[in-house]
Amino acid sequence: MNPLLDFSGLPRFDAVRPEHVTPAITELLSRCRTTVERLAADTAAPSWDNFSAPLNDEIEFLSRAWGIVGHLHSVNDVPEWREAYNQNLPEVTRFYSELGQNLDLFRKSKAIQSGPEYPTLSQARRAILDHEVRDFKLSGAELPEEQKPRFQEIQERLAALSAKFSENLLDATNAFSHLVTDEAQLAGLPEDVKEAAAEKAKKDGREGWKFTLHAPSYLPVMQYAEDRDFRETLYRAYATRASEILGTNGRLEWDNSPLMVEILKLKSEEARLLGYGCYAEVSLVPKMADTPEQVAGFLKELGAKARPFAEKDLAELRAFAAAELGLEKLESWDTPWASEKLRQSRYAFSEQEVKEYLPEPKVLAGLFRVIESLFSVRIAPDMAPVWHPDVRFFKVVKQDGSLVGQFYLDLYARETKRGGAWMDEAMARRTLPGGIQTPVAYLNCNFPAPVGDKPATFSHDDVITLFHECGHGLHHLLTEVDELGVSGIHGVEWDAVELPSQFLENFCWEWDVVKDMTGHVDTGAPLPRELFGKMLSAKNFQSGLMMLRQIEFSLFDLLLHWQYDANGQKTVLDLLEEVRDEVAVLRPPAWGRFPQSFSHIFAGGYSAGYFSYKWAEVLSADAYSRFEEASLTNGSVLDAETGRSFWQEILAVGGSRPALDSFKAFRGREPSVDALLRHNGMVGA
Ligand SMILES: [Zn+2]
Repeated sequence: MNPLLDFSGLPRFDAVRPEHVTPAITELLSRCRTTVERLAADTAAPSWDNFSAPLNDEIEFLSRAWGIVGHLHSVNDVPEWREAYNQNLPEVTRFYSELGQNLDLFRKSKAIQSGPEYPTLSQARRAILDHEVRDFKLSGAELPEEQKPRFQEIQERLAALSAKFSENLLDATNAFSHLVTDEAQLAGLPEDVKEAAAEKAKKDGREGWKFTLHAPSYLPVMQYAEDRDFRETLYRAYATRASEILGTNGRLEWDNSPLMVEILKLKSEEARLLGYGCYAEVSLVPKMADTPEQVAGFLKELGAKARPFAEKDLAELRAFAAAELGLEKLESWDTPWASEKLRQSRYAFSEQEVKEYLPEPKVLAGLFRVIESLFSVRIAPDMAPVWHPDVRFFKVVKQDGSLVGQFYLDLYARETKRGGAWMDEAMARRTLPGGIQTPVAYLNCNFPAPVGDKPATFSHDDVITLFHECGHGLHHLLTEVDELGVSGIHGVEWDAVELPSQFLENFCWEWDVVKDMTGHVDTGAPLPRELFGKMLSAKNFQSGLMMLRQIEFSLFDLLLHWQYDANGQKTVLDLLEEVRDEVAVLRPPAWGRFPQSFSHIFAGGYSAGYFSYKWAEVLSADAYSRFEEASLTNGSVLDAETGRSFWQEILAVGGSRPALDSFKAFRGREPSVDALLRHNGMVGA
């Protein structure tokens, strides 16, 4: 039997082979299509039992099997798996996009939503129907027939423009290079950066060091290069990419300026077709934030509170640059370099030294202890077939021994593994006729593997990453929702989905947690308190400046999709200057062309959504502050009572109720920005 068609339990990683993929996916797609056709043609009045349930059941088989294939493609990207994945990807994508356009399904979901059965359904089922109808509407399902072709045309044109925006940016980035032939100009640069630059020059058959605008080459120059002209050359090229300012090897055909205008016009037209006043309103429909006014108010409040700290950061930097670096005027190509000098003079500590205190067994034990103390559960090793010998498998059980969920832990970097860290699901919680299907998660990282017989050691950043992904994992595993469509992270508003992950990161900055999670790899000694103090101070270095920068981007994005008229006289750059007048303390040169490389909003799905980063940080910091308050009375942030409430009100309910309701149920009030400011050292000005 094809192991991808075995849904009796955990994925059969011991048996599944690339040659199983096409037969399994072909069969599952055909079963899904048959079910969709049968349900669409059914003339009986639609109900949850005769329509929603069978449709969701059938699609789950496809998503579970395809999930295994996608997972293996990510963690074991050898040619055979890549081919099996790519061969089936177009058909799977096509099926899901047809599903989203199927008007018969839309009409049936809508009929249930407005029918007599709806009020009798559980909150979770009502939420699933609400989400379905909402998504259909946003993809144009309710438009009058004569408007549909134009709507479709806009979608296709926007997809093409986004792709072109990214291509232009990449081409413009790639076209620039700068050859250094005098070694004296490299002063200050780390050795590995110089070696990489020499390697690149050699590849071109040149003597010297070749620098580019890609991050691993550009950022170290800005941060470390002593030579001011060298920094300026790279900065000017970087800040004008994909614009009408051409520089060396630039081309007018890569100018993103006209694309931005067309994208904004089309988004605005799309919004009006859907019955909204502007695109920002469309963007906010599936999000936790309600209105552009509310988001603007949030950003401005945060900006006003961060501003005095940003001004102080800047004054300190200027004073330091004048006194220690002989720079009377700080240009944009000086600030990262001067900041790095200031940071070193104040908080010098070695990342390498910290790493020796964070061996893997200590870190994992510390992480598990946090979870076990907060949620009164136990994490224990468990058995399952895995895709690589380094992968481990664990179960989470309640105190009465009942199973909550299970997870795979794949910590180390491998050549065949996609970069970064991520949580994904193997199975989601739901109720079946035979009982509850418990959730299973994949936690994937790219940490250095152990060398020799010593355990692997992690940087503090690695540990934060691990906690972050575990936070997503807990959201998936601790759900108590019994319906697939809104269990775990399913159906959670995307400006709230980072709440549990960023929340868990906070414990990495808590001495009570860190001291028990560290032990020197050779001596076993805990991390010195003084070193931890330096790490804490360095964490908040220039946090005011950084926060204002994020607020500048967020407000610019919001206004572009809200009040800005792409048909009017004002240019995109004019608007950016206005936002800077209001928000920025550090002013980039007016000739900079930042919007032309702002792919998040012009090519990345973040249009009128860039604020989500800060929004989620506020929520997670504010949620965490209830644990800090508890620690004032009982002496520890690992408070089981508050943990139980966090589980019940936030993690357990998943997407079955609005995130704001969940937050308020946990915190007892609306979110406040105070905790985030305090965590960033912005208090008492
Ligand atoms: Zn995340």
